[in-house]
Amino acid sequence: MLELEGIDVFYGNIQALHGVSLSVRQGEIITLIGANGAGKSTTLMAISGIVPPRRGSIRFEGREITGMAPDGIVKLGISQVPEGRHIFPELSVAENLDMGAFLRRDTRGIASDRDFIYQLFPILAQRRNQPGGNLSGGEQQMLAIGRALMARPRLLLLDEPSMGLAPLVTRQIFEIMQTINKEHHTTIFLVEQNANLALRAAHRGYVLENGRVVMRERAAALLNNTAIQQAYLGI
Ligand code: ATP
Repeated sequence: MLELEGIDVFYGNIQALHGVSLSVRQGEIITLIGANGAGKSTTLMAISGIVPPRRGSIRFEGREITGMAPDGIVKLGISQVPEGRHIFPELSVAENLDMGAFLRRDTRGIASDRDFIYQLFPILAQRRNQPGGNLSGGEQQMLAIGRALMARPRLLLLDEPSMGLAPLVTRQIFEIMQTINKEHHTTIFLVEQNANLALRAAHRGYVLENGRVVMRERAAALLNNTAIQQAYLGI
């Protein structure tokens, strides 16, 4: 579904990604794990067109998307839930969700997707008229995921969904992510600091170190790998 081949990304003169290659198959949950500053967010931002690579290629469903503008990439079916959520605090929950549908014109489809998101996250339905800024951290994460889903993505990019959340809320969000993957056939590319949680939820994983992919394996194999356990799982 998605293929990155040898991508290099720079911020000015600083090279953040060095020849990153990876692939995501339709229907899977892929996770990218790595320490702070390894380049995980940069990889997601390269895919969604926010920081275009200087070299290499990114293909989505067989089509070259390298260098395409972010809104064009959303239109093709890729939505990103950014790190830190970035919801609109002054807008209501419902208005925040509608922002995710800004490229769509099918009013009925939008309304039915909004209902689907309220079923997935009943708390958002209860708070639909409240300003987004009044929600708790976990609810804001749900809203950010709901907003991304309003674009009806086939590939959802999730950047650190557990950040700053209590374990119970994190678990809830991970369960919903798995429901979206299984029952709604949305492919998921998950970036997480919490490698333990991510590898338990994902089918396959990539390990990123200093902007380079150093390992690619089935998630279960990474969980049992002693080097991974020592470096990322605190075992
Ligand atoms: P974290 O978990 O801390 O978000 P990460 O693995 O997502 O880490 P990135 O945020 O992708 O890592 O950062 C990769 C490298 O690029 C780091 O060295 C970081 O300092 C650098 N970097 C990220 N954003 C910028 C920027 N806007 N300008 C300059 N350097 C940046």
